[in-house]
Amino acid sequence: MTELFTDTHTVSFRPTRKAGLEQLEHFAPRMGRHYAQNRNADLGPGERTNVSALSPWIRMRLVLEEEVARKALDGFSYASAEKFHQEICWRSYFKGWMEHRPSVWQAYLERRDEHLSALAGNAGLRNAYEEAVSGRTGVAGFDNWARELVETGYLHNHARMWFASIWIFTLKLPWELGADFFLKHLMDGDPASNTLSWRWVGGLHTRGKTYLARKDNIEKYTDGRFSPSGLAQDAPPLEGFENPSPRWPDLPAGKAEGRTGLLLTEEDMHLASLASGIEDLVAVAGCVFPDARSPSGAGEVAKRFAQGALDDVLRRAMERMALPARKLSADDFVQATVEWALEAKMDTVATGYAPVGWVRPKLNALKDALSEHDIQLVEIVRDWDRSFWPHATKGFFPLKKQIPEVYAELGMPV
Ligand SMILES: Cc1cc2nc3c(=O)[nH]c(=O)nc-3n(C[C@H](O)[C@H](O)[C@H](O)COP(=O)(O)OP(=O)(O)OC[C@H]3O[C@@H](n4cnc5c(N)ncnc54)[C@H](O)[C@@H]3O)c2cc1C
Repeated sequence: MTELFTDTHTVSFRPTRKAGLEQLEHFAPRMGRHYAQNRNADLGPGERTNVSALSPWIRMRLVLEEEVARKALDGFSYASAEKFHQEICWRSYFKGWMEHRPSVWQAYLERRDEHLSALAGNAGLRNAYEEAVSGRTGVAGFDNWARELVETGYLHNHARMWFASIWIFTLKLPWELGADFFLKHLMDGDPASNTLSWRWVGGLHTRGKTYLARKDNIEKYTDGRFSPSGLAQDAPPLEGFENPSPRWPDLPAGKAEGRTGLLLTEEDMHLASLASGIEDLVAVAGCVFPDARSPSGAGEVAKRFAQGALDDVLRRAMERMALPARKLSADDFVQATVEWALEAKMDTVATGYAPVGWVRPKLNALKDALSEHDIQLVEIVRDWDRSFWPHATKGFFPLKKQIPEVYAELGMPV
């Protein structure tokens, strides 16, 4: 497992596109065999050489999945970087799966709030929860990951799986509270990837199939850093909200017409490609909603990344595109956006499509408010999403099989 570890690398998670592209360049030579063989090892925050650590930039679309996939195709045959392509497409799978079943997100929100209220009236549950989120359970590894998450805003995939499994099956805490803790603190916190991964660990996503964290597996893949005792020995599937049948979402297809303002949110900050389809772009504005992730807001690191990403993209709009760029307040988002659009006499506000999550209802409210002034809201759906999402109705396998075909459709023959 360790044959290819030749250096150490602490990722600087600066919230800029430039930093994301630098990290992409740094990781590019490892997207092939190195990734396939070593990706499961979590050697700690100073040793992120075996995974890309690109998720915060990808989450906000400061760097696109397509850019990352093209980079892998530049350096390797599809077959030799297949594992990496598949992992990128797990994200598209989860996003598409949730688009077909928005009620799974709604059910998560409701149960989360019920469990948070229950904490107030149940001292035993509250203590167990507090110990878990502050890393005081006494379970080796788990406590370190709880602190690492809060301090750095990132966890390795395997650590996320172990953590979620121990939370559910050893500590027997409600999965929705664990998902809330992750969403609050992860820089890449994502409604679909996070909720569905927690459901997957608990046996709710692939019905009856759970993930059990094992001491020997943790010892092996943390290179002996952690050797937890007292872990649950079995993982009976949770009871919970059943997966509804998939319903294809009506994705918007409007075109920006007339004087257009580009609105950026944490759902899509890829300035150049969003702007390229707009003929008469007159201004740019942006707003992020980190505190909408959880009733208790977002963690400091996640908040800084989201705000920093927005500052970066607005600065680039001003400096490189010579456009007026404005940061809008999340507190009066709808009103401030309408005022911005009216001031610049816009016909259209264009924005990247917001999939299921906390930005979605905000765009719905904005659409209604803009229409009162005869301004249309156009949501731009990326070809990547349009092509992948129809394959995300069941398990990951059917989508995985389609990757080469979808890449070909996107002009990326393998
Ligand atoms: C309980 C749990 C919660 C999670 N919550 C999130 C979340 O909120 N946001 C999030 O982006 N990912 C989430 N993941 C998925 C995965 O852990 C992270 O995407 C990955 O660890 C990010 O690190 P990386 O960029 O180094 O990944 P790499 O291994 O380098 O993968 C490259 C990219 O592929 C995507 N990817 C890789 N693995 C997965 C996966 N299993 N599911 C979805 N996308 C994947 C990510 O965009 C990632 O940046 C969660 C996983 C678990 C088990």
